[in-house]
Amino acid sequence: MSRIVILGGGPGGYEAALVAASLGAATTLVDSDGIGGACVLTDCVPSKTLIATSETMTSVAAAPALGLAGRGVPARPAGTWEGSEPHLTPPEVLSIEAKRVNNRVRELAHAQSNDIEARLRREKVTVVHGKGRLVGPQAVETDQGDVFIGDVVLIATGAAPRVLPTAEPDGERILTWQQLYELPEVPEHLVVIGSGVTGAEFAGAYRALGAAVTLVSSRERVLPGEDPDAAMVIEDVFRGRGIEVLNRSRAASVRRIGDGVLVELSDGRTVTGSHALMAVGSVPRTKGIGLTEVGIRLGSGGHVVVDRMSRTSVPGVYAAGDCTGVLPLASVAAMQGRIAMRHALGESVTPLRLGTVSSNIFTDPEIATVGVTQRMKDSGAIAAEVVTLPLARNPRAKMLGISDGFVKLFCRPGSGSVLGGVVVAPRASELILSISLAVANGLTAEQLANTFSIYPSLSGSITEVARMMRSEDLFAAFDETL
Ligand SMILES: Cc1cc2nc3c(=O)[nH]c(=O)nc-3n(C[C@H](O)[C@H](O)[C@H](O)COP(=O)(O)OP(=O)(O)OC[C@H]3O[C@@H](n4cnc5c(N)ncnc54)[C@H](O)[C@@H]3O)c2cc1C
Repeated sequence: MSRIVILGGGPGGYEAALVAASLGAATTLVDSDGIGGACVLTDCVPSKTLIATSETMTSVAAAPALGLAGRGVPARPAGTWEGSEPHLTPPEVLSIEAKRVNNRVRELAHAQSNDIEARLRREKVTVVHGKGRLVGPQAVETDQGDVFIGDVVLIATGAAPRVLPTAEPDGERILTWQQLYELPEVPEHLVVIGSGVTGAEFAGAYRALGAAVTLVSSRERVLPGEDPDAAMVIEDVFRGRGIEVLNRSRAASVRRIGDGVLVELSDGRTVTGSHALMAVGSVPRTKGIGLTEVGIRLGSGGHVVVDRMSRTSVPGVYAAGDCTGVLPLASVAAMQGRIAMRHALGESVTPLRLGTVSSNIFTDPEIATVGVTQRMKDSGAIAAEVVTLPLARNPRAKMLGISDGFVKLFCRPGSGSVLGGVVVAPRASELILSISLAVANGLTAEQLANTFSIYPSLSGSITEVARMMRSEDLFAAFDETL
């Protein structure tokens, strides 16, 4: 029987363990901070749980425009709520009990961690709680002195928030995203440093929860690296909701001053707030665990270098997830882990295909993307036709009072096969699947266009944009914009 030893119990590690056990391998999983990893305990799951609360606040704030009146808030004529009027910010409608919100976040995360651990044990995976390091290509030693030998070892140690020496978190006022859930109150004024995915998600969520928010972005626009049209929608929505967005503003230092924080920008300006959230990226957890000692090659940023089968430079040692820097998503970590185990155990397996990965930014509205991007098209790297349809034309969007967002489709010229797409909409994370299916299975815009969608539905915009792609606007106008 093959022996597998896995270092790290996040999605990369625990999914691999489940596959290895199901294939009959004697599987040991060593984890230091809790099964489920940062994904379940501090990053993905807690942030999305907090966002579930903030989304509800946004819906409540929008209620008057749908004809509902509440304490001190009259119903408003249709179409007059733009989501930006300061007197309609949620705290006037509902009050937020930050401790209960944060307790719910932590409890849900721990329950999920326990569920995953129970499942692993049911599948006969040996779970070891402890910090491990490689003491040979096939040997993991824990800080309790136990050594586990595997025919195959998988490294899945994840990543941790990047800490800048001039802005060290103190856990009270200067915070990493992992420390937010200990706060007794919603910050009065949160200064978010970094406007990537994590910064944007928290900026939007805390604004919806009633905090004043300043978003410090070193780039031209929030969400650099994402679809530029989508980023523009989010920036406009943010400004409309009262978030102060400081573009082209690099934070040089963050200091605590009394009950607040002082952020110094590199051009000499300063920003004050009650709290600062450092969202300036992650670093792989690959130091001090014996990787280079056994010959595993690390990239310049400290990531484990892997191929599409998750193999490292040392035979028999695989790596998966954020420690590889391939694409920091839970779904990708899990897929890399599964691929590693199937490959190691001699099963048939398809190498990782990043071109079909869908990802989502949980702002409000959400941004979901798959496949070819605007940047690839604009740079000429990929030949693609692109069509964009604003959501405001969609009848269901009108009924729901949604005005921001769009659907964008990229197709191969000639054949019309769907190469990628962007959805900016509430629950875009649910809507993207039809485009992902088209991309993964080589469907054409024609096939998407001929698929029935529900009338009225937001997904109707996906079939409609496919019809626009094949230039049958008249037909599109008939059934989707009534
Ligand atoms: C704020 C935030 C929100 C996110 N939201 C999403 C999202 O919505 N969707 C999405 O797909 N992705 C999201 N991500 C990314 C996602 O969380 C990561 O891609 C995912 O956690 C990577 O999984 P992993 O298994 O590589 O690492 P992790 O989840 O970090 O797990 C690594 C595990 O390894 C353990 N470990 C580390 N070193 C050792 C050691 N020496 N010995 C033993 N154990 C060790 C740790 O204890 C940890 O349990 C988010 C990230 C952040 C920061």
